[in-house]
Amino acid sequence: MALKACKVCNYLTEERKCPMCGSEDLSLKWKGVVIISDKEKSKIAEAMNIGKNGKYAISVE
Ligand SMILES: [Zn+2]
Repeated sequence: MALKACKVCNYLTEERKCPMCGSEDLSLKWKGVVIISDKEKSKIAEAMNIGKNGKYAISVE
């Protein structure tokens, strides 16, 4: 199954809705992956306003 990116929080999932924020607004058109494994230390997580560890798309159309 294809990986989809949540348009709200950028979280990548194979589910029909985002397990992170509950949104069903998912897109197959996304670019780049960022994996946040330690959000406390991650500048990327801070910059992208990510609150939980996981796999995120860098940009979502
Ligand atoms: Zn989401």
